Amino acid sequence: MRKPLAFYLFLFSAPTSVAAQMAWTVTPGSVEILQGGVLALRVSGDGLVGVRARFGNREIVFFADGNRSYLGVLGVDLEEKPGPQDIVVRAWGEGGRKSEKIVTVDVKRGIFPEEQLSVDPAFDRIDEALRQRIEREQAQLARLWATASPLRLWQGSFVPPVPGRVTAPFGLRRVVNGIPRSPHVGVDLKVPLGAPVAASNHGRVVLREDFFFSGKSIVLDHGAGLYTMYYHLSEFQAEKGALARRGDIIGWAGMTGRVTGPHLHWRARLNGARVEPLELIKATSDK
Ligand SMILES: [Zn+2]
Repeated sequence: MRKPLAFYLFLFSAPTSVAAQMAWTVTPGSVEILQGGVLALRVSGDGLVGVRARFGNREIVFFADGNRSYLGVLGVDLEEKPGPQDIVVRAWGEGGRKSEKIVTVDVKRGIFPEEQLSVDPAFDRIDEALRQRIEREQAQLARLWATASPLRLWQGSFVPPVPGRVTAPFGLRRVVNGIPRSPHVGVDLKVPLGAPVAASNHGRVVLREDFFFSGKSIVLDHGAGLYTMYYHLSEFQAEKGALARRGDIIGWAGMTGRVTGPHLHWRARLNGARVEPLELIKATSDK
């Protein structure tokens, strides 16, 4: 005899109803976030042994953070599509029990100013040799982003690498001689030539190069898919491969690369998303 459809639905739903006895919470349960924003998700409950979640095709890395608690940080890319998206958060308990909850993230369009610039077209010309150099440098960075080291090195709050104010904001849209350029994916911090530049958190120096656009550049790998970048330095301090602690001097501010004056261009990248580094400070303070 054929069983009614409800019987099969019961079979499918049964494991979930057992797991639902596992008491845990995720905060926030729903949230609005701007393009380029950073969100910290906290999962708490008794007997949790693991948490996983994805935002689109990006894995959110969760790590044990104190008693009965897991912390995950999510980066929303500068050009993430606006609108609501659901994050399915899966938690495992002892004995392999598993249950899930939904966090709704409503991505809001960032308000990014526009700047019109006129430059001598000769200044802007890129010949074949230079084009090849730029491509090599971009490929070198792309290889870095493709290999996130699993071990988390960062702890606690990120700190500003220099004390200076922002002179060019994150997301600034530059239009040069009437042609839109790629958006400004970092912040420019005003800083005198030769001022010390500090590591924003613990991390390994995975890139220390003199690049055409970004000049003397350092990339710190904080582990678990989180990187910060420090561009236009006058001098390096930290060696490649070295482990920098938060606040350690990694270099000296300058105006190397394609710039018009001394400043620190500071960037952050989280799980493949280009995020506002100042938001990284906010999202990790008091966590
Ligand atoms: Zn910049």
